[in-house]
Amino acid sequence: MTDPRRAIPRTDTLLASAPFVAAAERLGRDVVRVAITAAQQQARDGSIGPDEVPATALAGLPTRASSLTAVLNATGVVVHTNIGRAPLSPSAIEAVVAAAGYVDVEMDLATGARSRRGAGALAALLDAVPDATGALVVNNGAAALVLATTALAAGREVVVSRGEMVEIGDGFRLPDLIASTGARLREVGTTNRTHLRDYADAIGPGTGCVLKVHPSNFRVDGFTAEVGLGELRGLRRPDGSPVPVVADIGSGLLRPDPLLPDEPDATTWLRAGATLVTASGDKLLGGPQAGLVLGDAEVVERLRRHPLQRALRVDKLTLAALEATLRGSVPPVTAALHVTADELRPRVEALAAALGRGVVAVEGRVGGGGAPGVPLPGWAVEIPADAVERLRVGEPVVLARVEGGRGLVDLRCVPADRDGDVEAALRAALGDDGPDPGTPTP
Ligand SMILES: *Cc1c(COP(=O)(O)O)cnc(C)c1O
Repeated sequence: MTDPRRAIPRTDTLLASAPFVAAAERLGRDVVRVAITAAQQQARDGSIGPDEVPATALAGLPTRASSLTAVLNATGVVVHTNIGRAPLSPSAIEAVVAAAGYVDVEMDLATGARSRRGAGALAALLDAVPDATGALVVNNGAAALVLATTALAAGREVVVSRGEMVEIGDGFRLPDLIASTGARLREVGTTNRTHLRDYADAIGPGTGCVLKVHPSNFRVDGFTAEVGLGELRGLRRPDGSPVPVVADIGSGLLRPDPLLPDEPDATTWLRAGATLVTASGDKLLGGPQAGLVLGDAEVVERLRRHPLQRALRVDKLTLAALEATLRGSVPPVTAALHVTADELRPRVEALAAALGRGVVAVEGRVGGGGAPGVPLPGWAVEIPADAVERLRVGEPVVLARVEGGRGLVDLRCVPADRDGDVEAALRAALGDDGPDPGTPTP
């Protein structure tokens, strides 16, 4: 009697067949081999027949080579750290794809000579912030701060107000970050009030720079005082030399935004007297993860020439995305921040009507530790709270939020052309098979 297990197709045979060759090209040979081995094992166990091995192996393959899963953001939180902060604009996505191959990131094609890396992104930054004469791009906002304090104050002192000793999220504290650079932190003033004389008393021959940090994720109200950048810029060491003022604005706004009156922007802070401004690329700027340094060209050049800069520099994909964010189509973050409740309402009502659900007024959030006091009025479809969990593991993944015991689907950060996908995901999560005009609105 022949052993049916001898009929199980061999790994090499399967790997050489067309569907597996195609799969290996997309997903890698090892992944495909693992799926084949698993299917062969099922055939040996007798849970499938030998002839079912190819189909079972193909069905067991992951759909993508990367395990990252795209999600639709129906939380109403615009800059959501856990889902990658800013989604890229169409222009930035196109630029990333174009830069994925060989690209002239550090070559002048006219002469064939080496050129300034990422010159296009730097020019776009300087065009966007004419008050800066120099610009530099590093890995993220924290890296910008580390590079600035290292280049200007390693082995010396960074003077900073006690009102600005902030934790920026996930346990990262600015004082620890700065201490890690070998600079000494010289704290001045108190939590709620710091005066010019506090800074002046602390400045000495060992001062590397003054640091001003925007406390982006909280507000101190009441009896408060802080010192303006203009006054800080006037501070001198005993030998009369000026002290550079590094200002961390965090959010990456390049110009004032009337919607966010308390949010600092690079232009205003440079005009007010900052020597350098540091910021994130993937918060309110709506671009790729990056750290921006803008300001005095000579001081920026000191940072650029520091050996640490080489360890913090960004790749071609980031440079491409950043330039296209600055020059191209409106970033989704900007659109989601500025969309009004009236503009959102018809979309939310159409979705609610299709599902026979109710609409409620809600407030979205800027998120990303930015503008904590700014509500973003909008509308959401109300769903049972337990459906929010099913949405999170559905296809496509939709992230809604739970508030006051109810689930809320807020379309603020969902691209308008994906409303149909949200509807399909909601139907599945709500156990609703299709439009039913007889369903009463709860
Ligand atoms: C977010 C933030 C940072 C850190 O920026 P990353 O890009 O996340 O590294 C630093 N300072 C402030 C004030 C921030 O808001």
